[in-house]
Amino acid sequence: MKLFRPLSALLAVLALALTLPAVAAERIPVLASFSILGDIVANVGGDRISVSTLVGPDEDAHVFQPAPDDIKAVARARLIVVNGLGFEGWMERLAQSANYRGPIVVASAGIKARERVGDDEEEHDHGGAHAHHGKDDPHAWQDPQNVIVYTRNIAAALAKLDPAGAEVYRRNGEAYVARLQDLDAWAARQFGQIPDAKRKVITSHDAFEYFGARYKVRFLAAQGVSTDSEPSARDVAALIRQIRSEKIKALFFENMSNPKLLQQIARESGTAPGGKLYADALSPAAGPAPDYLTLMRYNITQLLEKIRLN
Ligand SMILES: [Zn+2]
Repeated sequence: MKLFRPLSALLAVLALALTLPAVAAERIPVLASFSILGDIVANVGGDRISVSTLVGPDEDAHVFQPAPDDIKAVARARLIVVNGLGFEGWMERLAQSANYRGPIVVASAGIKARERVGDDEEEHDHGGAHAHHGKDDPHAWQDPQNVIVYTRNIAAALAKLDPAGAEVYRRNGEAYVARLQDLDAWAARQFGQIPDAKRKVITSHDAFEYFGARYKVRFLAAQGVSTDSEPSARDVAALIRQIRSEKIKALFFENMSNPKLLQQIARESGTAPGGKLYADALSPAAGPAPDYLTLMRYNITQLLEKIRLN
């Protein structure tokens, strides 16, 4: 009976050799840390790559806890793309656990980072590992001009990994850059029509500082730059007073943050929450923000509608 074993094993190997190249081996497996970045990577890579993400739609990267499947996804990848700026404090350990030896490209490399706001010494963010990841605000993707830098960094990293596709990545990247420029010009025109004094928005955590700087909108957040920070009762009370005295009507939940604190602020300030902004994650495919460009247009439309009432 022993004779049949090597034979069946050999047949299995042959069967694999016959089927695998046609399906799996053609696309390069690339792993992006979170859903928004995964969409940008997919736009640049086109059909030469297959993209998977660790932190999916409506999920919160600040408090991400890798599962055994995530270690497998990392081990399979030939390129990992991260946001950087301290957003993925868990990535280094995860790559080690998976024995990953490929490149890790930082999509935000070269952008002008903003400093964290509303941050204090007590805060330990990103996975609760008591690690402090610098003083940069990670939410750079909320400014389309930064995403142009992301796009070109990703195109360069893919070209290095797969030189035969370099021209495709460059072309895909520049086509995507053109769409980002359109988005940015449209957004600037829209906000330009609204008086400065009205451009005030309340959100759960400080995810919109880059956006606010780009389009001159003032975002006031209950929490600091990470969703796992705990604001003091005094800070919350001060925010409520400010909402009342400045009569701010634009108050938004975020798709991946706990709504409790914002509900409390809405109740105590007598303001009705205006809906949901997509901060650190896409929506599922059937939702209103399944890709980055749609996410931005959705957020901007929501924001414009409410700040007009301020
Ligand atoms: Zn965030």
